Amino acid sequence: TPTSRLDKLLANMGYASRREIQMLAKNGHILLDGAPVAKADTRIALTPDLETRLVVDEEPLDPLPGFALMVNKPLGVTCSHKEAGPLIYDLLPPRWRRRDPAISTVGRLDKGTSGLLLMTDDGALLHRIISPKHHVAKRYRARLARPLTGSEVDLFAAGTLMLEGEEKPLAPAQLEVVGPQEALLTVHEGRYHQVRRMFAATGNHVETLHRESVGGLGLPVDLEPGAFRRLGEADLAAIF
Ligand code: URA
Repeated sequence: TPTSRLDKLLANMGYASRREIQMLAKNGHILLDGAPVAKADTRIALTPDLETRLVVDEEPLDPLPGFALMVNKPLGVTCSHKEAGPLIYDLLPPRWRRRDPAISTVGRLDKGTSGLLLMTDDGALLHRIISPKHHVAKRYRARLARPLTGSEVDLFAAGTLMLEGEEKPLAPAQLEVVGPQEALLTVHEGRYHQVRRMFAATGNHVETLHRESVGGLGLPVDLEPGAFRRLGEADLAAIF
C-alpha cells in the first residue's frame, strides 16, 4: 500500500497549502479514527477505507487519488479550457479543481452535445477507455435535420467510410434507426466531431446529440443534467 505524508496528501487533494494543513492539524481539525492527528508530517497508508477514517473539519474526506466519476453533461458546457463558455470542471466542487493529479475528462463531448461524460484523475484508466485499441463502445442518440435514407446502416457498418481530411477509414459503427429522423449510433473510436461528421458524410445534419452510454455503463435516468456521481467498482467493470 502506498503511503503519503498527511500534509502532502491533503494539499494535493486541494484542501489548502501544506502550511495551512499543518495549522489545521495542530489545532485539532484533522482526525484519524476519531483521534486528532497533531503532526501533519505523519505518514499514513492510502487504503480505500481512509476515506471514512480521515475527517477534515468535520467533513467526510474527498475521494482519494485514483477515482472516477460520471457527469450528465449539459448543453453549452465545454470540456476544453481553450473554448469560451462554462467549463465542465465548474460543475465539480471548487476544491476538486485544485487537485494534483488533476481531474480530466475521458475524451470530450462537444459544447453542443449532452449526456454521459466520464472524468478521472487516473491516467491509466483514462487511457484504457479512450485508446482505440480497447474498442470501448460509445452510444449516441442523434436527432437529424432530414429523414434518414436507409443507406446509413450499411454505410456505417462497412468500415470503409472516410471522413473529410482523414487518411484512415472509420471502423465499423452500428446504427439503429428509431424514427424517421432519429437514430442510435454506436462508435468504437473517438475522432473529432465524429458523429456529426459521419452524418454530414451522408448529406444529413445532426441537430441534437446525446451520449447514452460508454461501454456497458449507461447514463442513469435519475442523474440530472449538470449532476455528477462517483463511479464504483461495478460501474468501472461495466465500462469494459
Ligand atoms: N461525436 C460528435 O460529433 N460530437 C461529440 O460530442 C461526440 C461524438
